[in-house]
Parts: sequence; C-alpha cells; structure tokens
Amino acid sequence: MVSKSHKKGFDNKVSAVDKKSAHLPEGLWIDIEDIGDEGLNVDFVKNPSYLDFRDRDFKIVKDVTINCTLTKCDEVIYLNGQISTFVELTCSRCLDNFTDEISTKFSLEYLPEKGESSSKEELELIESDLNISYYTGDKIDILPTVRDQILLSISIKPLCKGNCLGLCPHCGQNLNISKCNCKENDIDERLEILKKIKL
Ligand SMILES: [Zn+2]
Ligand SMILES: [Zn+2]
Repeated sequence: MVSKSHKKGFDNKVSAVDKKSAHLPEGLWIDIEDIGDEGLNVDFVKNPSYLDFRDRDFKIVKDVTINCTLTKCDEVIYLNGQISTFVELTCSRCLDNFTDEISTKFSLEYLPEKGESSSKEELELIESDLNISYYTGDKIDILPTVRDQILLSISIKPLCKGNCLGLCPHCGQNLNISKCNCKENDIDERLEILKKIKL
C-alpha cells in the first residue's frame, strides 16, 4: 500500500513538470485563459528571423513590434492588432533598394475548430471570410496572421518614391540620379516611324 501511494505521488510530480516545460512549436502564442472580462493586451517584439521570411524579394530590417488587444465572447475570440517594422524593398522602376515603414492594423475573429457539425453552406461562408481563423485547445497562435498581414502590406510593385523616373530603357541609366543622352534620339526615332506610317 505504501509503495503504491508513493508511486502515485511520483507520477503526479512528473506530469506537473512535463506540463510546465511543455515545449510549444515556435509561434506567437496567447493563452485563452489569460483573456479576462476586461480583455487582454499583449505586445511582442520579435527579431525578423523569427518570422522566417526567407527567399522573398523584401527583407525585414528591424525588430517587428506586434501590439494586440484580445477580447472573448463565449467561445469567440476577437483580436485587434497593430504591426510595426521596417522593410528593405527593391524599387520596381529604378531597381534601387530602399527602406519603407510598415504600420498596419488588422482585426480577426477566432472560432473554436468544430468537427463536422457545421453545415456545408456555413463552412463555405466562413471560408470566404479572411478575417476568420480557428483555434483548437486553450491557446491561439497569431504568428500565421502576423505573417499574412506583413505580406499584405507590402506592395507588389514597390516604388522608392511616387515620381521615380526609373531606368533608361536604352542605356540603363538611373534617371533619378542623372539624365542620359538617349532620350532625344529615342523621340527622333519614334517621329521617324510615325512619318513613315503617315506616308
Ligand atoms: Zn525608384
Ligand atoms: Zn539612356
């Protein structure tokens, strides 16, 4: 009897230690339990490498700050967040690298992941809404959302400045830095072609 109770106590101790040291996969985890009646404010500051944007045509050059406010209503969790950082981009016109600030706000609803109880129409409706995500268990990982939001806030055709003059299509000179001699010849050539067409 003594050895049995001793064994039980030992087992309990092991499981408690396991729970504390349980290693979660990398992410930005929020404990749902921590979201009280008045909500929860959480800030993260992460090194760019943590977001794992490799082999992209941009580079995050400063720590990423994520400010989150979470509220809970029954099983639905509402997240309002703001992401701030700086990225290095390549101008789509002059091909120069430049640094741009990212400051983007987002909001998202997290629903508990349900089995097959939802009707087909319901699922289709939910899947088309980008502002809805799912959680299982007692934690939410907001890292995928943060990555998506950063990608969304980066222009597909970045410009170093609104009036970037780009490169000369003939000699490749960056026209923001200085003019080249091709331009006038280019116009003359086009005029010659127009004259020929008219004749
Ligand atoms: Zn440019
Ligand atoms: Zn030129």
